[in-house]
Amino acid sequence: MPAAGPADPSAAELRDVHAAFNAAQLPMALVDADGLVVSANDGLGALLGADAAELRRRPAADLVDLAGDARAWRAYREVLRGRRSRLRCTRRLKHPGDGRPLWAEVTLASVPRGRHLLLSVADVSDRRELQDRLRHLQMHDPVTRLPNRTLFFERLTTALENSSYGSFGAHGDGGTGRIGLCHLDLDGFKAVNDTLGHPVGDRLLAAVATRLTECAGSDPHAHGDGHLVARLGGDEFAILVEDSTGTEQLTALAGAVLDAVQRPFDVAGQRLSVSASIGVVERLAAGTTVNGLMQAAETTQYWAKADGKARWTLFDPERNAHRMTRQALSSSLRPAVERGEFALEYQPLVGMADGAVHGVEALVRWNHPRFGTLSPNRFIGIAEEDGSIVQLGRWVLRTACRQARRWQTDHPEARPPFVSVNVAVRQVWDSDLVADVADILEETGLAPGLLQLELTESAVMGSAGRPLQALRALSEMDVRIAIDDFGTGYSNLAYLSRLPVSGLKLDGSFVRGFQDEAHPNPADEVVVEAMVGLAHRLGLTVTAECVETAGQAERLRRIGCDTGQGWWYSRPVPASSVPDLLPAPCA
Ligand code: C2E
Ligand code: MG
Ligand code: MG
Repeated sequence: MPAAGPADPSAAELRDVHAAFNAAQLPMALVDADGLVVSANDGLGALLGADAAELRRRPAADLVDLAGDARAWRAYREVLRGRRSRLRCTRRLKHPGDGRPLWAEVTLASVPRGRHLLLSVADVSDRRELQDRLRHLQMHDPVTRLPNRTLFFERLTTALENSSYGSFGAHGDGGTGRIGLCHLDLDGFKAVNDTLGHPVGDRLLAAVATRLTECAGSDPHAHGDGHLVARLGGDEFAILVEDSTGTEQLTALAGAVLDAVQRPFDVAGQRLSVSASIGVVERLAAGTTVNGLMQAAETTQYWAKADGKARWTLFDPERNAHRMTRQALSSSLRPAVERGEFALEYQPLVGMADGAVHGVEALVRWNHPRFGTLSPNRFIGIAEEDGSIVQLGRWVLRTACRQARRWQTDHPEARPPFVSVNVAVRQVWDSDLVADVADILEETGLAPGLLQLELTESAVMGSAGRPLQALRALSEMDVRIAIDDFGTGYSNLAYLSRLPVSGLKLDGSFVRGFQDEAHPNPADEVVVEAMVGLAHRLGLTVTAECVETAGQAERLRRIGCDTGQGWWYSRPVPASSVPDLLPAPCA
């Protein structure tokens, strides 16, 4: 009798293997090359709520819903055809009893030297539930139970991806291809936290979260579960509006949110009031990035705060462009001085009594390679902030003095005009203005009496120490000091008169009151007349700025202003045009 080889199990052995297969905890089945169940164990029967025998000849793919997932389905077909040795995937099935979700890890693998494939289905619902719970914890804020920053960004990323794909079609999925965001920051929350403590602060945040969720849920345009409301951190929240219908939807939502937040809260026996600053952005999803949208929303929220809080503000591309330009300008200011991108124009200061040009004010312009000619209001503030005003101011002073000296030498027959140069506060504090002026006057040969410096009231008021010493030293050198834009600051004439100041430049806003010649405002005239009278009594000369009409010029002359400056006399002009404006030769 031939001995049984190792590949030929005895009938007894086969029975054992079969019994073990049936008794195994792991639900299993043997599947043939057509995908039909050859034999299933009791474990699989129990899992699927059927008798194991009933499962025979059933398509394995139906039992574990493999057709419900395109990738799993493809892999399944390849395993059946022997092109791939195994498939592993997780499928969501239903509990046979109560229909609860049942998470199954499905494996289908060829059995070496076997004719059939082995299907095993592990119930991983517990593991999955734990994972879900962990994920929920990771993605939600414990204080408000709202989605946190991480989940918010995940949803935003998905929303942008989905609607961007959709935008290539005709939004057949019912989407609009647009997206909106309300970025909200509470006003006055810090005070609550600081005075009543963090536990009360936390409860207030939770109460705010509830109201936000109500608003987001009751938006008539919201579909599905409503909009995503998330806590981004601290007292910052966001509402994400997928498939928004336009800015109206977003501003209506922001308005409702603002009303809701401003209603008093009863928290821990206290009645608390807060408000919110909300930045609103709404745009096409295509071409929008997560960062771009968030930055726009944050900037807009910041505008809402800066504009006075307790409001919503809509993103404004122009205002944003201005902000971007400001950044671009700030970074190119310093090298611009070295590259010689600045130029001066000069505007005459005309004697009211004789109508002659007594001096000119130097006004700086920036010929920016990208933005064209920029007026000083666009960049002087930035230059003051970043300190480059010191270098720029020195360049202006040197250029203006050199030019004034040139007019004098080129036109010896004319009465030489003085040049009036604007000086920023920071130049007085951060540089040795006195030494700079002395050096430049010496270098250019300009007489100190032909230089006037214009400082604003805020630069000289309350000045003790350094600014006062600088003013004294300059005045002793015979350089004149004028107070620019007078009347917009402290306007303490008595104090000014004790400083070494020789004149006032009356701010344009006073002259503007004279504009309507048919109905001149007598109050304005009375104020200006009183100021001029007082200035004269204190030994100060007065220049009126922004004189635009003959009527204004005439009234200012009658009131007693010494000099006038403005479009009525001349716009600011390049240096080469100044000689034509100068008075005839002195007698
Ligand atoms: P500011 O010193 O009060 O100069 C007068 C401004 O009023 C000039 O504007 C001038 O062009 C404008 N203006 C003159 N006449 C009229 C008029 O009839 N009507 C109106 N509406 N405006 C008139 P600009 O050149 O844009 O200068 C603005 C400000 O920039 C100056 O005001 C001054 O504070 C500052 N600035 C200009 N150049 C310099 C500079 O070199 N250094 C510093 N630190 N500041 C400067
Ligand atoms: Mg000025
Ligand atoms: Mg001025």
